[in-house]
Amino acid sequence: MSRDAATTIIQTLREHGHVAYLAGGCVRDRLLGVAPKDHDVATDAPPDVVQKLFRRSQPVGEAFGVILVYAPGINPNADAEPQRGEASGTDRPQRRFVPIEVATFRTEGVYSDGRRPDEVNFTTAEHDAQRRDFTINGLFEDPLHPDTPNPDADGHGVIDYVGGRADLESKTLRAIGDPDRRFGEDYLRMLRAVRFTTRLGFTLDPSTAQAIRNLSKFLSQISRERIGGELQLMLTTPHFAASADLLQQLRLDGPTLNEDHLDAEMSVLTRLSPDAGYAAKLTAWMIDRHGLAAATPARVRRWRKALCLSNDDTDTLNRILRQLHAAEDWATMSVAKRKRLLSMTDWDQTLLVWRAMKRADAIDADTPALIEDGIGLAPAPLVDGADLIAMQLKPGPLFKTLLDQVYDAQLEGRVTDRQAALAWVRQSASEG
Ligand code: ATP
Ligand code: MG
Repeated sequence: MSRDAATTIIQTLREHGHVAYLAGGCVRDRLLGVAPKDHDVATDAPPDVVQKLFRRSQPVGEAFGVILVYAPGINPNADAEPQRGEASGTDRPQRRFVPIEVATFRTEGVYSDGRRPDEVNFTTAEHDAQRRDFTINGLFEDPLHPDTPNPDADGHGVIDYVGGRADLESKTLRAIGDPDRRFGEDYLRMLRAVRFTTRLGFTLDPSTAQAIRNLSKFLSQISRERIGGELQLMLTTPHFAASADLLQQLRLDGPTLNEDHLDAEMSVLTRLSPDAGYAAKLTAWMIDRHGLAAATPARVRRWRKALCLSNDDTDTLNRILRQLHAAEDWATMSVAKRKRLLSMTDWDQTLLVWRAMKRADAIDADTPALIEDGIGLAPAPLVDGADLIAMQLKPGPLFKTLLDQVYDAQLEGRVTDRQAALAWVRQSASEG
């Protein structure tokens, strides 16, 4: 487990006369009773000392003084570095080298380029706590307490310089110190506030919320990569509808998407199944904000830029929108067209959005009969291009039309075997 690995590192640092604690998210999560994603260590040892003390280490955030140290532990992640000479692939849990981020206590200046702080200075645990964003993220824990008593720690081994424990108990998300100043140093913290509030089911402290409302427009100064990354984290939790709603309440929706602020109701997003992927969630959000008719390729291009969407997500988003627009004609569609729609890539995601729009009743009612008609949605074609060439037909636009048409005939049961399909093609080609 990564907690053991982090504790081993802390012990080594301690033996060499340094202060070292678990820091940030893992302390918060343990106190909330949820499994932390990872365990970070913070120490007063400078980065070069950390690197000297741990042979298996590498700098990862040089601007911040963060060293990745590989420490022995049971690593649940398969991609971690295997121990030398250790056979992999056995069933029992294996001792592996777990990557742990070890950061030197630091203060940070403002993020004037929207990407990284202008200056970083190494400091004490207390000042390091104060440069963190929210009180619940500003806690340290001494995992060696009470075996080696730490006078700064409470009964849980927690070291709290910022009032984080009380806020955890009252489920309050609060900026550390003066909220205007803290958001002014790094406007991305406004999005992080939304993410933590909705993920944990907390309430935003009123003066923290007010500061965000006042400063929301400055979010556009943050790099699009950071905004997009934060939005993805937010929307890939089960609390995406609440996140979109809170973004809007705090007037962060406009600067996040590079659009105007809207007072939209998140009804599609609220009804969307948790099985929906990121692109389907973005689609639902776009429909809530603008309606299906205005969910166009041009808007997808704008969102892609605003959120630094990957090619994959953009393609999926476009595909879902095309399929939604096609599904509007379901009632008048031929059987072949219906089957083609149902077997398209990402149709499952489209259907989740269509259901959330409460428009999928007819499709849901008609689908079983289309699947179980003895032909199926996407049978192997009875004829292919090679057959057409064998008939002396020249590849060209007619070629594809013939193949499409004969496949439609197959999907609808108008041709049922290869001979009939070949005859069908011969007949059509001679006619046209
Ligand atoms: P998660 O479980 O989502 O990883 P986390 O609290 O570990 O939550 P990280 O983004 O991994 O969040 O950051 C680790 C810690 O670093 C935070 O708990 C917080 O103390 C601090 N931190 C991260 N980003 C910022 C920021 N932009 N401004 C101030 N402090 C930050
Ligand atoms: Mg983390």
